[in-house]
Amino acid sequence: MDFDYTAEENAFREEVRRFIDDNLPPKKERDKNFLATWLEKVRAKGWVGFSWPKEFGGSAGGLIEQTILREEMALAKAPPLGTSMMGLAWVGPGIMEYGTEEQKRKFIPDILDSKVTWCTGYSEPNHGSDLAAIQCKAELHGDNYIVNGQKIWTTGAPWSQWIILLTRTQFDVASKHDGITCLLVPMDAPGVEVRPIENMAGDKHFAEIFFTDVEVPVEHRLGAEGDGWKVTVSALANERSSIGEVTQMFAKLENLKELVKSTKKQGKPAHEDPGVRRKVAQFEMKIAAMKYNGLRYLTKQIKGEPLSSETSVNKLHRASLEIEMDDFAVELTGQAGLQLRGGEDAVDGGTWSKSALNWPNVVIGGGTPNIQRNIIAERLLGMPKD
Ligand SMILES: Cc1cc2nc3c(=O)[nH]c(=O)nc-3n(C[C@H](O)[C@H](O)[C@H](O)COP(=O)(O)OP(=O)(O)OC[C@H]3O[C@@H](n4cnc5c(N)ncnc54)[C@H](O)[C@@H]3O)c2cc1C
Repeated sequence: MDFDYTAEENAFREEVRRFIDDNLPPKKERDKNFLATWLEKVRAKGWVGFSWPKEFGGSAGGLIEQTILREEMALAKAPPLGTSMMGLAWVGPGIMEYGTEEQKRKFIPDILDSKVTWCTGYSEPNHGSDLAAIQCKAELHGDNYIVNGQKIWTTGAPWSQWIILLTRTQFDVASKHDGITCLLVPMDAPGVEVRPIENMAGDKHFAEIFFTDVEVPVEHRLGAEGDGWKVTVSALANERSSIGEVTQMFAKLENLKELVKSTKKQGKPAHEDPGVRRKVAQFEMKIAAMKYNGLRYLTKQIKGEPLSSETSVNKLHRASLEIEMDDFAVELTGQAGLQLRGGEDAVDGGTWSKSALNWPNVVIGGGTPNIQRNIIAERLLGMPKD
């Protein structure tokens, strides 16, 4: 494996760093217009949808440059490059691959310009890990599908304008992967009811959604009827390089190091404590292991080989590592560390305690640890299913 960057890649990294220096003021100095201005500027640079084909408004950027862009943005703790994370990660790529010309014209520019936010309606009360068993029903009547059913844990549902929705259009199927159809539905359509769910950190990021006789025009179907599983698998595969995640972990480690420097343990600076130092070094080694694993996936992608189950390794690793780091930070800072945002003595604005309470985000969201273990055992290690 060659770890060196080419002169062009290094120049690109410099360009990103310069841009950040020129356009990312410290948090305290950002006014209420900052985010809108930032989004406009990164869009003008062609860094939103960086790897998307030019015909769709992207920059057709290479994988290494994309990695550099994500690394530098994460290390600078920059705001996101767009407001619709899911729009950029899988809805947009799904529409580019399976959408009609009209759908591409209608939806893609608004995702790139951060005008519309998307959420993802896959999980149902009884079908999360076993996603292909979904029951939310869509029946074709004339030119409209009539949707009835329920989704749950839908991140961003309280503020999103559109949802990518997995429905079942056929129930008597040989395989549960058949008969699934993907629909694009406006969240303000009559019959869509969003009930936010408060998580244990006090946030209302996700919701249950009830669909009662919701009319969805046929032209809002993504892909052919019954092809919903194929559309979903292929769209999700677009965002399977986990390098970006690793950089977020390095940024988190930097925050932890700052915390260790500014905290006292038994009257002495915590960073002088051998136990604390050992723990931080262990975190760093584990993140480095994630990084090299991530580079292996990147190498595969550069060679044009599709990624499949490998990313489960880092997903599983990250889940336990984030919990360990949050718990360590909260424990280190004692009672004040338990205070959430707004607390009188809250440490780092309550970030660590909030993150510790938000562990389901990284552990359950996107697939549980057991499911990752099954994938690793069956698909990577070739172990038998039973
Ligand atoms: C923060 C957060 C955000 C989310 N955002 C979204 C979203 O935006 N859109 C969306 O559609 N969904 C979302 N989800 C839902 C998430 O995808 C599901 O919760 C997840 O896939 C697990 O499904 P489940 O809750 O039905 O649990 P289940 O599938 O019922 O699992 C329960 C337990 O059984 C275990 N288990 C299940 N099957 C197996 C098996 N075959 N082998 C071994 N163990 C097994 C699981 O590991 C788990 O421990 C989100 C969840 C969270 C926590």
